[in-house]
Amino acid sequence: MTTKRILSGMRPTGKLHLGNLHGALKNWVNLQNENNYECFYFVADWHALTSDYGDTGQILENITDMVIDWLSAGLDPQKSTLFVQSKIKEHAELFLLLSMITPLPWLERNPTYKEMKEELTNRDLSTFGFLGYPVLQAADIIIYKAHGVPVGVDQLPHVELTREIARRFNFLYREIFPIPEPLISDVPKLLGIDGRKMSKSYGNSIFISDTGDELSKKIMSMFTDPQRMRKTDPGRPEICNVFSFHQLYSEEESIKEIDVECRRAGIGCIECKKRLAARITEGLKSVHERQEYYRSHMQEVSDIIEDGNARAEKIAKATLGEVREAVKI
Ligand code: AMP
Repeated sequence: MTTKRILSGMRPTGKLHLGNLHGALKNWVNLQNENNYECFYFVADWHALTSDYGDTGQILENITDMVIDWLSAGLDPQKSTLFVQSKIKEHAELFLLLSMITPLPWLERNPTYKEMKEELTNRDLSTFGFLGYPVLQAADIIIYKAHGVPVGVDQLPHVELTREIARRFNFLYREIFPIPEPLISDVPKLLGIDGRKMSKSYGNSIFISDTGDELSKKIMSMFTDPQRMRKTDPGRPEICNVFSFHQLYSEEESIKEIDVECRRAGIGCIECKKRLAARITEGLKSVHERQEYYRSHMQEVSDIIEDGNARAEKIAKATLGEVREAVKI
């Protein structure tokens, strides 16, 4: 059985939310536990600058917090290499070389680029860095010769672009890079409390660390079936975001009951939301316990990152050696 390499990253732009947990992190943990995969997961701190370049004060703190969240969600540093992008300078060199061979229209037609520019009107995203970040992402992936990239559905156009850039490099210089495949999780697009995609940038997130009143308040404000104005109106679970969260957090029996009762107006939205808050609290309990542990063992967290950086750097340096030889530079 040949070992395949897995690579994925997240931007340290704030606390992790349930979209990150179900769309990416759970998938990362599953992959690490399959023995034919060698997993590399990185903190994409340079990527955080692409949209948050004006306010970098939180990045360092966010890096440690995010790694704590990863470990708390079940990533095991004995099985997975956890590292910080900006510590491995070879990513930047490969990014520069790839930027030479990437046609501009490939970046301009990227749907995620267009969507974010439309949604984030409060920031000036007309920068070279923001347009070009999928090229940096391509460098992040192929420098480890990754075969699989576990991501949420929003990242699919970027993985596609990575594939095109890798093919172009292999064609122009030498066949160095495998063409990576996206690996989509069971929850490719979790919606936030306002019904849009859950995103740190949209202020609609339920965070992994949310508990008690904070969590209840968010769940109580979640959009439900818009046609269900009163408790006596029958609901449609298939279009209700609260129901989709029950599918992630509630027991099979309870999901069935809610499905039936909602349709015949036997259970109201408030009761349904209360039950959900209780289930999420229960579901995240062990994650919160591990967060507590790591927060009081910060040296252990730093050692894990140091060790991961060293492991990643070794591979990145070896690939860059091959790349420089192929490009003759
Ligand atoms: P980001 O916060 O953009 O760095 O995303 C980190 C990872 O979480 C990526 O793999 C995303 O695809 C995934 N992700 C982010 N938001 C969601 C969401 N609402 N639903 C599913 N996956 C998501």
